[in-house]
Amino acid sequence: MTALNQMYDISEINAKNRKKPVLIVEDDFINRELLNAYLQQEYEILCAETAEEALRIIHGNSETLSLVLLDLNLPGMKGLDLLREIKKDIDLSRIPVIVLTSDTESEVDSLNAGASDFIPKPYPRHEIILARVRRSIELSENKDLIRWTERDQLTGLYNREYFYRYAEIYDTFHQDEATDALVLDVSHFRMMNERFGRAYADEVLKRIGAELYKFVRSNGGIACRREADTFQVYCPHMTDYAPLSQQVTAAASGEDKVHVHIRIGVYPRVDKTIDMELRFDHAKSAADSLRNSFSESVAMYDESLQAVEAFTERLLDDFRSALTQKQFAVYFQPKYGIRSPKPVLCGAEALVRWQHPELGMIPPGRFIPLFESNGLIRELDHYVWREAAAQIGDWRKRLGCSVPVSVNVSRIDMMDPDLADTFCRLVEENGLSFDDLHLEITESAYTEDSEEIIRVVSGLRARGFKIEMDDFGSGYSSLNMITKLPIDALKLDMMFIRTAFYETGNTGILKIMLDISRYLSVPMIAEGVETEEQMLTLQGLGCDIVQGYYFARPMPAKDFEAYLKTK
Ligand code: C2E
Ligand code: CA
Ligand code: CA
Repeated sequence: MTALNQMYDISEINAKNRKKPVLIVEDDFINRELLNAYLQQEYEILCAETAEEALRIIHGNSETLSLVLLDLNLPGMKGLDLLREIKKDIDLSRIPVIVLTSDTESEVDSLNAGASDFIPKPYPRHEIILARVRRSIELSENKDLIRWTERDQLTGLYNREYFYRYAEIYDTFHQDEATDALVLDVSHFRMMNERFGRAYADEVLKRIGAELYKFVRSNGGIACRREADTFQVYCPHMTDYAPLSQQVTAAASGEDKVHVHIRIGVYPRVDKTIDMELRFDHAKSAADSLRNSFSESVAMYDESLQAVEAFTERLLDDFRSALTQKQFAVYFQPKYGIRSPKPVLCGAEALVRWQHPELGMIPPGRFIPLFESNGLIRELDHYVWREAAAQIGDWRKRLGCSVPVSVNVSRIDMMDPDLADTFCRLVEENGLSFDDLHLEITESAYTEDSEEIIRVVSGLRARGFKIEMDDFGSGYSSLNMITKLPIDALKLDMMFIRTAFYETGNTGILKIMLDISRYLSVPMIAEGVETEEQMLTLQGLGCDIVQGYYFARPMPAKDFEAYLKTK
């Protein structure tokens, strides 16, 4: 590296408004000095004698470099290869490159590889060189301005809005070609943000962006960042996206031990008569269909998904009227204390069902995630809490007894600043005690914004509400984090019962989970308990409370009332 390069400091250039930096890549001493002499009045000159050295300088100055003058005939790595290297890298591709050569044949190759201009050797008059350099820089600066508005600042890919415009333009040039719409999603991105920090998560997104850029450069098409952790690609039809999936996964995971799982949804051979955004909504549905799968990473949009989409649409359309017509019913499933040999009824969980007049009984698994994704869950949950609280009040009054009922609180509800007031009002209005209403908060909610969640949960506990951590062990929180959380009970994720009793027959993991609950001094609730054997095993291991089909399924309030009376 030359002394000049070593002294070179970007911050200084910006601070003092110094000349624009231009890199000359030329192994011939005389030619190099000649160009240097022509340009140094107007530009800050950097020099490299080999492509390898040039690449180092370019990487080190990727944000400020105004132009590269590139001799094609270099020792070692050739100029044309360096040019290709620059153009395929999303961070470098904006830098204009003027090619220098005595071989007119290579002009076409250079232009094809992305050179912005060409200066023949021997060199023309120095005014000509200066004029060409100025023009290339000016053109690229104009392009930079456009880039600024049409690109996502983090990844350098198009932003969503411009992507749709360019996709339309792409169509006009590829009318008869089969084209695919892709949506790529990072699984558990939120968790990654929380665990490894924002900077790390951003780095992963940048790596994915760079890989997708490479993909469309070699296969054709365009790419964008749709939002947060979601990307889109519009490209010529392909039959197999497994290689893309592997490449993006490898790039995203990098050298780190963290494995990044990426889902790709493909709407193949798009129908070009439908709206552009809808084509990507189809691809998104396909990607979403992989949400609970860890083994699959590519899904195609097909007719079955079309039916799912139509169903989803229907649920959204019907939501409002369903609320006013009270189509949502609150069911109750008993919880049993099993510390003593004879199990005793000690509470219930309120679970919602949708009794749809035309579609029949719809289980919550079909609509809760949907309503969580668009915020409707808040209204539904408020409705369920009101119904549940009123029901407990009614039992108290009429039967003179009741059991504590837990309601589910979605992570979206946790962002509501009035949450504690809402619950206090429910308690007052229905003549309940705070102990009558338990709140189930899913483990994943705690990782969203732990500080904030801890504050909210502490506030609720301070008022007297009991907090149960739902789906405990489903993998969102670390042991370290759990010890700091304000909770009154752990509700073991049902998956543990499934694996222990149906898959492995090994109850060791249950023992570990129970050790954790004892370490935290909170009771453990096991749900999804279906057989006597499971109940007895859990009892033997010291589990406190059990819920599941073994005792009873969730039932309408009326049936639960009859059930209460027999206890
Ligand atoms: P969850 O909170 O983990 O609820 C437990 C689920 O396990 C319930 O499913 C329950 O019916 C089911 N279950 C209980 N015992 C057994 C058993 O022995 N075997 C099996 N296989 N399953 C059992 P459900 O009612 O379909 O609810 C599914 C999920 O929907 C709930 O999971 C919860 O996350 C959500 N959910 C239900 N109601 C509400 C609500 O009002 N608000 C919110 N935000 N979410 C709700
Ligand atoms: Ca629950
Ligand atoms: Ca659960």
